[in-house]
Amino acid sequence: MDIAIVGAGIAGIATAYELAQDGHTVTVYEQHNAAAEGASFANAGWLSPTLLQPWSTPGWTPGGTGQTLVQAAGPWLGQNWRWLRRWKTAERSAHKTGLLTTTASALEQLSAFSQQLRHEISAAHELSTESHQSHLVLLRSAKEVQAMQPLLAALAEMDVSAQLLDAAAARAAEPGLSPEATLAGALQLSEGETINCRQWTQQLRQLAMHSGVRLQPHTTIRSVQSVGKQVHLLQEGDNAAHLHDAVVLCTGANPDLLAASGLRLPMMPLHGYSISAPLREPTHAPRAAALDWGQQLVISRIGQRIRISGGAELGTAPEAHNQATLTRMYEALNDWYPGAAQLSSPQVQIWRGTRGVMPDGAPLLGRGSQPQIWLNLAHGAHGASLANGCARILADQIAGRAVPQEVQALSPMRFSS
Ligand SMILES: Cc1cc2nc3c(=O)[nH]c(=O)nc-3n(C[C@H](O)[C@H](O)[C@H](O)COP(=O)(O)OP(=O)(O)OC[C@H]3O[C@@H](n4cnc5c(N)ncnc54)[C@H](O)[C@@H]3O)c2cc1C
Repeated sequence: MDIAIVGAGIAGIATAYELAQDGHTVTVYEQHNAAAEGASFANAGWLSPTLLQPWSTPGWTPGGTGQTLVQAAGPWLGQNWRWLRRWKTAERSAHKTGLLTTTASALEQLSAFSQQLRHEISAAHELSTESHQSHLVLLRSAKEVQAMQPLLAALAEMDVSAQLLDAAAARAAEPGLSPEATLAGALQLSEGETINCRQWTQQLRQLAMHSGVRLQPHTTIRSVQSVGKQVHLLQEGDNAAHLHDAVVLCTGANPDLLAASGLRLPMMPLHGYSISAPLREPTHAPRAAALDWGQQLVISRIGQRIRISGGAELGTAPEAHNQATLTRMYEALNDWYPGAAQLSSPQVQIWRGTRGVMPDGAPLLGRGSQPQIWLNLAHGAHGASLANGCARILADQIAGRAVPQEVQALSPMRFSS
C-alpha cells in the first residue's frame, strides 16, 4: 500500500519504520523542518512501567496531591473543567477496580513490548541513545511510602521487579543524592531506562529512510478526506491533493485533523517543561533517573547533561513560560542534587512541550470511523515508552493481522458512544 503519515515525532517515525518493514511505500509529512521538533524533542525520556510515569494514567497520582499540581495554562474554561471531570471519573473507576484496569494493563504490556522492540532494533543496528538503566522513585514522607503499596501490588501482578528501599538504602543506591534532602524511602526499578528521545527518533528516521521512507518536511497538512478507496491530503498553500491508499495521523497533541477520523475526540493539551544543563559534577548527579513522586518531576542523566522535567498545564498555553513551575524545578534539582548541573552555563536549554492527553490517559491507536484513516497519537505522558510497540501494533492492524485483545482498549472508537 501507499501510506501517508502526518507528523514526524517519535510516533510518526516509529510507525513509518514499521510500515516500511512490512513493504509499504511510506511518505511522512511534517510541518517543521526536521523530525522530533514537537513533544519528542526534550522530554524526560523515562521508560518504565507506565503506572510509574508522571501524569500517566488517572488513579495513581501521589496520594491525591498530584491533582494540585495540575494547572490551567490560561484561564480555567468550561472545557477544562469538563475534561477534568472525565479524568476524575476514570480515576474513581481505577480506584474501584484496582490500579490494573483494562487500559492500564494494556499500557503496561505495550510499554514492555515497546522496550523489547527498541532493544532489538538498537542491537541489530548497533545504536546507542545516551541510555541509562535503573530508576528511583523518591519518596519524601511516610505518607508517600504508604501510597506506594497499591502500586507495588499492581507491579508485582505484572511481574515488574520493584523494590521498596528505606532512606539509607536509597542513598546507597544513588550516592549523588543530597544528604540534606528529606527522604523517607524510594522505590527502585532496576529495569527502568532513560533515553534521549530526540536522538532515538533521529536514528529511527535514518533507518526508515534507508528502507525507502520519504520525509517531506515544511509541509503542514490542513485537511484529510476519504474519497472512494483513497485519502486526499491537502497541504497549506497548495490546492493539489496528495493521494494515498491510507493515512496514519501521528500529529501528537495537535487536534486539527482529528475530525477527519469521523469521531469527536476529547483530547486535551497538557504542557510541561524540561531544563537541560551540562553535567558539572558526575558524582553529585543521578546515575540514571529519579522521579520526585510528590512533585512529579523527573531528574535524568541524558549523556553528559542533566535534565529535569515536569509541569502539567491544561489547555491553551500563553506565549510566556510559567516561571513558578520553572522555579519549582530549579529548586527541586538543587534540593536533590545540588551542584550536579552547570545551571549558569549558556548551554542551558529550557523547553516547553505539549502532550495530547485523553481522559483515560491512554493513546488513540487504531482505525477511526473512516476506513482509510488510522490514528496513532495522544500518547500523553508515555509517548517515548509506547512508540515502538504502538507502531508495530498499528502496522499489524493495517495488514489485517491479529493483535492482542487488550490493545482494543486503546481503539479511538472507545469514544464513539
Ligand atoms: C515535559 C514532558 C515530559 C515528558 N516525559 C516523558 C517521559 O519521560 N517518557 C515518555 O514516555 N514520554 C514523555 N513525554 C511524552 C512524550 O514526549 C510524548 O508522548 C511523545 O513525544 C509524543 O510523540 P508524538 O510523535 O505523538 O508527538 P510529537 O513529538 O509532538 O510529534 C507530532 C508531530 O506532528 C507534527 N504535526 C502536527 N500536526 C501537523 C500537521 N497538520 N501537518 C504536519 N505535521 C504536523 C508536529 O509538528 C510534530 O512534529 C513527555 C512530554 C512532555 C511534554
